[in-house]
Amino acid sequence: MYPSLDRKEKVGLVSEQADLELRLKDDLENVGKGWEPLVRAAYNISILFGAEIIQVKEKFGFLRIYTRDRNPAMESFLGHLENLSGQICEYCGSGEGVIRDGKYWLKSLCPPCHVIKRTREEQTAEEAKAYKKTDKLL
Ligand SMILES: [Zn+2]
Repeated sequence: MYPSLDRKEKVGLVSEQADLELRLKDDLENVGKGWEPLVRAAYNISILFGAEIIQVKEKFGFLRIYTRDRNPAMESFLGHLENLSGQICEYCGSGEGVIRDGKYWLKSLCPPCHVIKRTREEQTAEEAKAYKKTDKLL
């Protein structure tokens, strides 16, 4: 693969790659499946610019990407990805009819996924009420 490198250098490259894949896997767990292509694009951009992504998360319905050693060109690329996330459903990746909405938590979702989210929130609220009732009985 890298014939000119000695064994130590090869091991270094492999562990660097493994570390990068672990961090990508972690960051993909911080956001919905629909944004996976955006997160992967952010990682590719960071590799291109030789910078490290510190954290990826969802904030106010947008993807947020935090990096070390930001430079203006890279910041511009990542800014586009962050803005684009507001038009892509975080749950399923659809670009149709995406709106940023939410009673408890703002999310950029397509209409069917908003229904799923609302149903989950209502179920959680009901479960919390039921839990409080049983708690008072004890
Ligand atoms: Zn969706």
